[in-house]
Amino acid sequence: MQQTDATTAESQQQAANACAVCGDPVATTEWHPATTETTPDGDVVIVSFCGQTCRDHWVEAD
Ligand SMILES: [Zn+2]
Repeated sequence: MQQTDATTAESQQQAANACAVCGDPVATTEWHPATTETTPDGDVVIVSFCGQTCRDHWVEAD
């Protein structure tokens, strides 16, 4: 029986972030719109979006 690397490849595509607007997973291996935000604690965090539409939504809501 022959084994494939399908399972390994799939696990490597796990998204580390989710879209800040709609919550869709954002694959960090691909380019996505992002911005930075300063938290009340003074930390700067990177906010990722699944697409330009969600980024525009974020800017309008701010
Ligand atoms: Zn989104």
